[in-house]
Amino acid sequence: MIRFKDTITTDVLIVGGGIGGLCAAIASAQNGVDTLVAEKSDSRRSGSGATGNDHFLCYYPKAHGDDIMPILQETFQSQIGGFHDPKLTLRFLKESIAMADRWLEWGINMRPFGPDYEFMGHAFPGRPRIWLKYDGHNQKYVLTAQAKKAGAKILNHSPVLDLIKVDGEIAGALALDVSGEEPAFRLIRAKKIILATGTANRLYPAAGTPGSPFNTAFCPACTGAAQAQAWRIGAKMVNMEMPNRHAGPKFFARAGKSTWIGVYRYPDGKLLGPFVKQATRYVGDITCDVWNTAYTDVAHNGTGPAYIDCSEINKDDLDFMKAGMVSEGLTAVVDYMNRTGLDVTKHAFEFMQYEPHLIGRGLEVDINGESSIPGLYGTGDMVGNFRADISGAAVYGWIAGNHAAQTAKTCALKDVEGSDWVKERTELYDSFVERKNGGTWKEANLGLQQIMASYAAAGPYNVRSETLLNAGLKYLGDLRKEAVSSMSVDNAHGLMRAVEALDLMDNGEIIMHAALERRETRGMHIRSDYTFTNPLLANKFLQVWQEDGQVRTNWRERWGL
Ligand SMILES: Cc1cc2nc3c(=O)[nH]c(=O)nc-3n(C[C@H](O)[C@H](O)[C@H](O)COP(=O)(O)OP(=O)(O)OC[C@H]3O[C@@H](n4cnc5c(N)ncnc54)[C@H](O)[C@@H]3O)c2cc1C
Repeated sequence: MIRFKDTITTDVLIVGGGIGGLCAAIASAQNGVDTLVAEKSDSRRSGSGATGNDHFLCYYPKAHGDDIMPILQETFQSQIGGFHDPKLTLRFLKESIAMADRWLEWGINMRPFGPDYEFMGHAFPGRPRIWLKYDGHNQKYVLTAQAKKAGAKILNHSPVLDLIKVDGEIAGALALDVSGEEPAFRLIRAKKIILATGTANRLYPAAGTPGSPFNTAFCPACTGAAQAQAWRIGAKMVNMEMPNRHAGPKFFARAGKSTWIGVYRYPDGKLLGPFVKQATRYVGDITCDVWNTAYTDVAHNGTGPAYIDCSEINKDDLDFMKAGMVSEGLTAVVDYMNRTGLDVTKHAFEFMQYEPHLIGRGLEVDINGESSIPGLYGTGDMVGNFRADISGAAVYGWIAGNHAAQTAKTCALKDVEGSDWVKERTELYDSFVERKNGGTWKEANLGLQQIMASYAAAGPYNVRSETLLNAGLKYLGDLRKEAVSSMSVDNAHGLMRAVEALDLMDNGEIIMHAALERRETRGMHIRSDYTFTNPLLANKFLQVWQEDGQVRTNWRERWGL
């Protein structure tokens, strides 16, 4: 049996020490309450911001003018824009420049080009530029140090497995110690919990390298834990059925496309998009933000491949681009270029569309970042009704951290020891350790990927339908039963992976239930049985949650300004 190592008590628990989690921790600890971050990996180098980022969406009155509304509109039209409750986005924008100021003060170089902030990339010609360009290569070290300085404790190598609810409110979490070979459980009693576990990857076969499921454009250790854990205790999710696919260099699986300064071309040299003829560091080719399926379309209709052409940029911009790749954490690409003599001024780079994953789809949160379960918050990529990537995770982490800490001061801890839910979950996890010669977590994960690709596929050129989704739910149910009754693991690491596979199954199930309810075609959610876009659903979000063992859905209006 897996032993219980200890029980920890804290006012605010943060699940995930990525960008959002660390900013939440700093805010919470600065309020003088006990703050603990439970991080699966090591917060100095974890998550999608592990090795850096370089674009920080924000509203800066000095550059953008006093009217925030054009910046709000530009945000909705940008690549992160589709699924927002405008009320949340407006609050984010208003508080965004203060976050950039804080990062600068803490030691992240937010002004690498001079005395003031500069806005570059992900921009349309002649329109406001909303992405501040910064050098984020050291951001995780800086935020970790700042969280510790503020008084937060960081528990690395401690993935959270399950959330505990008592009398309808959040009460604590079950964590796993994976710092050694032998796994150990930990109970964490907390008055408030902030989920910040990032994207959900490894749900679908890796598009560039199906044989290497961890070669994903976003952090492969982010596996929809927040959505799965919150789902299991009845929290509401939104937009889970809406697929998202990122694009970038073919087979590399590296996000960060706006750091490239070039234009996209067909093999005969014709430009793919209408936006720019010549890319500069300020305005690159935004075609691939707007025409998200471009690289799949040109492969499908035979006019491709599509390449990024950096041959016409000047030497200064080329050096600038390579430096930007280091700020952005794309050092593997730069190393590859240097090692192989690949010169982007001479050689075109083919781009591709990556597999579907969840980003900006998941937990529904209110204006303070709180979910439908009192005391449970969310920030960052796992939130379903607001998205602004790096700065969104940071600013909403700050908002949630402050709110959780302030409200924690007036509420009491609940008793989580002896919880039937904890007993049920720990018995399940124990069974994987006790069983010898069973199936592997990898088989379960790959099986899920096959089911998702076959029955809940994302567009373009793939459809969903009632019959396919119902078949998918049946097979997913079978796979889960098989995994639960046959998986075995050798050590703590294997147990963590087995839990990830089960979390991903929960995510797959939520997607399928929501996709069944969305009886229309919208974006890459393509229904062969409802081939049109229903205008009545344009401003609505689909909530999905579990109640009394049943899956419930509800359409709600977006929360306007
Ligand atoms: C190469 C690349 C370039 C990018 N460039 C930009 C950019 O320039 N601008 C921009 O805005 N965005 C960019 N992004 C996206 C950006 O990095 C993310 O949006 C951002 O990191 C989200 O923050 P987060 O806190 O939600 O998640 P993350 O920073 O990914 O953190 C999630 C954390 O949760 C941990 N975790 C997962 N499961 C558990 C669990 N069960 N228990 C405990 N911990 C867990 C993970 O280990 C991780 O540390 C880029 C992403 C990549 C990969």
